[in-house]
Amino acid sequence: MRILVIEDERKVASFIQRGLEEERYVVETAADGQAGLDLALHNVFDAIVLDVMLPKLDGYSVLRALRAEGNVTPVLMLTARGSMEDRVQGLDLGADDYLSKPFHFEELAARLRSILRRSTPEKTTKLQCGDLTLDLVTHFAYRDEKEIELTTKEYALLEYLMRNKDRILSRSMIMQHVWKHNFDPESNIIDVYIKRIRQKIEKPGQSQLVTSVRGVGYRMRDGGPADGDEEGEE
Ligand code: CA
Repeated sequence: MRILVIEDERKVASFIQRGLEEERYVVETAADGQAGLDLALHNVFDAIVLDVMLPKLDGYSVLRALRAEGNVTPVLMLTARGSMEDRVQGLDLGADDYLSKPFHFEELAARLRSILRRSTPEKTTKLQCGDLTLDLVTHFAYRDEKEIELTTKEYALLEYLMRNKDRILSRSMIMQHVWKHNFDPESNIIDVYIKRIRQKIEKPGQSQLVTSVRGVGYRMRDGGPADGDEEGEE
């Protein structure tokens, strides 16, 4: 899951970023409203944490511009403590939830999980592909009931693949969802991580879950051919 944090107070922004990265989100930050809006409009995020008081463009203007563009990414607004007008205005403009400053990180994380759940149609805490299960709460994968430990990036990539099971995902789609926006698109990092994931989840003699689509990218399926690597689709 990729989260955009738009917050000008550097300490607060890095506090949120560190916490979310520990929970295995991919986090990008923007320090003013205009930069945040530009990032949000040109990239794909699963949710946005948006401060109200921001330089250049305040949080309401960012939210209004986003929704006017048809962008429905869930937004959690950070408002001043006790300001009822702030909260009402945010919700009226299409915010999904709000949190008053100061807040505990645990509450931010819980609210974020809640708006992410609401925006995901299946409302599930587990993803399944063949006999591979991904637990969205503990971030562990299981195959044949055996626990598989994943790094933050491996988890983010596997989650994206499993959420889009049976769909062919191009390298640029994967890049947009799992890596930060300024990542070099020519890099072979996706293939490197796919290889690592395969080493962890694939079992010899069992059907292959992650298949390569030649010249395009990857697809996750309940059971691909046990031997062939490439699907050979152009
Ligand atoms: Ca602020």
